Amino acid sequence: MTTTAKLIPLLKREDREKKLRSDLCLKCFECCKLTVIPTAYDKDNKEALEFYEAKGFKVVKFAADLLHVVIAIDCANLTPFGCKIYANRPKWCKIYDGRLDPFVPVCLWNKSAV
Ligand code: SF4
Repeated sequence: MTTTAKLIPLLKREDREKKLRSDLCLKCFECCKLTVIPTAYDKDNKEALEFYEAKGFKVVKFAADLLHVVIAIDCANLTPFGCKIYANRPKWCKIYDGRLDPFVPVCLWNKSAV
């Protein structure tokens, strides 16, 4: 049994969940390999849609007036060993919840029982 596995049962439930999430995220980083940008959409003005599709981005319509542009490019801070600024990563990275993200096909946290 690893040291982490021995310590996890001793933590409070909230701290245990944070620790498990952190461990899973540090093995995964799938959410660091794409960026999804919500973009206003006017169905009578399709230039934005044409522009993003012409650039090769995947575009998902979520509502009549909202597009999600999916940019499948690794974050500049992602290395083969993980995030090089993990301790100081942006707040959005810290609060991100892969369990709620329909765009990330693989999320270890999402697959866990947390
Ligand atoms: S800053 Fe770090 S945690 Fe945030 S997307 Fe980039 S590699 Fe991932």
